[in-house]
Amino acid sequence: MPGESVAARKRRAARIVRGLARAYPDADCALNFRSSFELLMATILSAQCTDAKVNDVTAVLFERYPTAEALADASPSELEAIVRPTGFYRQKAKSLLASSRDIVEKFGGEVPGTMENLTTLRGVARKTANVVLGNCFGVPGLAVDTHMKRVHQRLRLTAHDEPDKIEMELMDLVPRTQWTAHTHRVIHHGRVCCVARRPRCEACPVRDDCPWPDRASAAKPVARRHRARR
Ligand code: SF4
Repeated sequence: MPGESVAARKRRAARIVRGLARAYPDADCALNFRSSFELLMATILSAQCTDAKVNDVTAVLFERYPTAEALADASPSELEAIVRPTGFYRQKAKSLLASSRDIVEKFGGEVPGTMENLTTLRGVARKTANVVLGNCFGVPGLAVDTHMKRVHQRLRLTAHDEPDKIEMELMDLVPRTQWTAHTHRVIHHGRVCCVARRPRCEACPVRDDCPWPDRASAAKPVARRHRARR
């Protein structure tokens, strides 16, 4: 909000965190996985792709390559063919191979459970590491993807564009115990309500705490339709 003090911003952030928790109590990771290795690979594939498509692809991928050891020895062309439906398939196949080899060579075949070690794996940045830490190791993490970025920018809880800076800013505004759950709720909110092209502000559970300038105008077409029926 214009001229908002740091304390007022923190109070507003706390109301938003609670509001999203009430609205989406069951929000959870939408990627299918049975191990930290599977979630790591699925998260790498999820860049610029829907979770539903990733789940279709990983059902085939993990049947063929169930472990880091198996995937580290995969044929690049065969791997590319499997992951092709997720887009950017050449780069993603390279990242799956390279990170699997790193897991085998540096960590004895086990996905490491710290940010420091996870981000040494090729193709793994903080967002991916936070997904794995939060969902497999019980280490709270704010995974800043496109939904986390858009929703928090509209809510004016960040002024940054870079995911790492957004994450650091949110660390001060969201209680640490809520980081993983808040990520799931915001991603869900970004998919069902605060969508990219025309957010459904009229139905938003945190509307009263959102200063997004276009919020009011986004609801106008609904009002116009009502007037036309009279
Ligand atoms: S009021 Fe609109 S812009 Fe603000 S968070 Fe809700 S849906 Fe997004």
